[in-house]
Amino acid sequence: MNVHDSERLAGLLDQAGLVPVDLVPAKAARATSAGDEGADVLVINTCSVRENAATRLFGNLGQLAAVKRERPGMQIAVGGCLAQQMGQGIVDRAPWVDAVLGTHNLDVLPVLLERARHNGEAAVEIEESLKVFPSTLPTRRESAYAGWVSISVGCNNTCTFCIVPHLRGKERDRRPGDILAEVEALVSEGTIEVTLLGQNVNSYGVGFGDRQAFSKLLRATGGIEGLERVRFTSPHPASFTDDVIAAMAETDSVMPSLHMPLQSGSDKVLRAMRRSYRSEKFLGILDRVRAAIPEAAITTDIIVGFPGETEDDFERTLDVVEASRFSSAFTFIYSPRPGTPAAGMEQVPAEVVSERYARLVELVERISTEENEKQEGATVEVLVAEGEGRKDGETSRISGRAADNRLVHAALPPNMAEADMPRPGDMVRVEVTHGAPHHLVADSALTGGTFELRRTRAGDAWAAREARKAELIAEANGKAPVSIAGSNLMIRTAGGLKAPAATA
Ligand code: SF4
Repeated sequence: MNVHDSERLAGLLDQAGLVPVDLVPAKAARATSAGDEGADVLVINTCSVRENAATRLFGNLGQLAAVKRERPGMQIAVGGCLAQQMGQGIVDRAPWVDAVLGTHNLDVLPVLLERARHNGEAAVEIEESLKVFPSTLPTRRESAYAGWVSISVGCNNTCTFCIVPHLRGKERDRRPGDILAEVEALVSEGTIEVTLLGQNVNSYGVGFGDRQAFSKLLRATGGIEGLERVRFTSPHPASFTDDVIAAMAETDSVMPSLHMPLQSGSDKVLRAMRRSYRSEKFLGILDRVRAAIPEAAITTDIIVGFPGETEDDFERTLDVVEASRFSSAFTFIYSPRPGTPAAGMEQVPAEVVSERYARLVELVERISTEENEKQEGATVEVLVAEGEGRKDGETSRISGRAADNRLVHAALPPNMAEADMPRPGDMVRVEVTHGAPHHLVADSALTGGTFELRRTRAGDAWAAREARKAELIAEANGKAPVSIAGSNLMIRTAGGLKAPAATA
């Protein structure tokens, strides 16, 4: 959700006439070790779901203070969950911040930057409820081949460890027609994979009184011509219904993968977390998903050391993990979020939690390795991605996701000509040769085995975007550089809002 919000913030700055710093080599060349990338306007979009968000934010801001002193006119804005929570408190601790905006009013970013510049003082605006649905804002998509599409924002649940309802508010659902129109627009630009986003996708429809709205939406999205892969995140076990399983199984383009957050295998802990399903219901859902979609890969989130968790509770989690056969799991040590009910409960001693955590990770890795080894010999179709394989350069591999969302590193055929290479967005069919705990290796091309490349519209879109970027860099080199670029956490910008005339 946060990454997608960053795409919206970047889109707003684009519209305001700014240019991404990576298109302005002269500006990018003055990047410092503070992570500023040479920008004149820099936006930090915070996520307080992650641990130590405040420590990390003020650590970053501390480094940026020195950069700002050296760079007259530079502006720093802070948005996201932590900004929603702290508001003016951010400027009180870091007076060199120029703008602060919350999760409910992304749209004000350009106005706040302008106002701060005009008034010579920080502009802070936080709203208590959603003012503008983010999906109505302009966007700068990070990927040419895969896109996020919000179906709802906010959450009506009250999990005691979670700050999201407090910061994102009650669930607000988009109309199905708006969602489908956005997906169609993405597909027309070349996107072949879409991930439907919501804090709890299974309660989608609560706002307009249709309990089966999510399964209908899945079927309708899956029917869009040209869209090859549909994913969604996150479902909630309490409200996961069989019509969704049927829609997944019966819609070809809905991928056989499911991320189903368990959090704990102990019913007592689930109750304390205020999560209204129990372990038996959770396992029942997995059984029904696997009966309908035998090839489904199921992943999860697990919290270790929730307040009050005993050794017996923890062993229940291990039991459920053993029975669930997750293909991977995101494991977290519980850490209190200020403002949540669980933060005030009696905490489990740190040494007990870390010992349990190590046992859980060992079990999760054993199972994911066993499950991934079962894939050896299978032929998988991989959507080639950008940035998924850190070692691809050294190993002459490409990386991407199989249909079931497993990460695959695939060898290229020896001596492949540059022009024949798969591009991000293209599909390759390869055979899995090794299952590792966190990925699959598919080196079939090295021994003359399966390597079938399918060029796609998405690959064309990626290539067109790269070509356009090269043109813009060339153009920007001959002009006074202006503005922005988006990435996961920071949106970096070069130049000021005052100079839109120089936009490439
Ligand atoms: S379902 Fe629970 S964990 Fe998920 S966003 Fe809502 S309150 Fe947070």
